[in-house]
Amino acid sequence: MEQTAILIVEDNPLNLKLVKAVLELEGYQIWTATQAKEAFSVLEQLIPALILMDIQLPGVSGLDIIQQLRKDSRYRDIRIIAITAYAMKGDREKMLLAGCDGYISKPIDVVSFPDTIASFLSQKKCSGESLSPT
Ligand code: MN
Repeated sequence: MEQTAILIVEDNPLNLKLVKAVLELEGYQIWTATQAKEAFSVLEQLIPALILMDIQLPGVSGLDIIQQLRKDSRYRDIRIIAITAYAMKGDREKMLLAGCDGYISKPIDVVSFPDTIASFLSQKKCSGESLSPT
C-alpha cells in the first residue's frame, strides 16, 4: 500500500526529530524542511497529503509560506496544519486567513498527536478539532 506523505516544516531540530519519529511509527512517509526554501524544494518533488507547518521560522514565516502555497493551484488542496507555541486571541483567525486547515499548539502531546493527524487526514478540507470554538 502506498504510504501517505507528510511534510514537516520545523526549524527546531528536537521538535522535528520528535514529530518525525512519532509519525514514522504510524506508517507515514515523512519529508522534512527547516525553512521556506527547503520546503518549496520538497514541494517541487511531491505533493504531500498534509503539511505540518511551524509558524515561527527564521526568515520567511510559516504563515507567509502557507499564503504563497495557497496561491498556487498545485498546493491548494493540501491539508495544512500550523504548529505554534502561541495561540493568542486573533491568532486562530490569522492562521485560517492564511489558509491553514487547523492548528496544533506546542508542546505537542505525543499521545494524542497521531489521532489528531489521522483525523485531519480523514476530513475533507475542513477544520479540525483544535479549531472548535472555545
Ligand atoms: Mn520554530
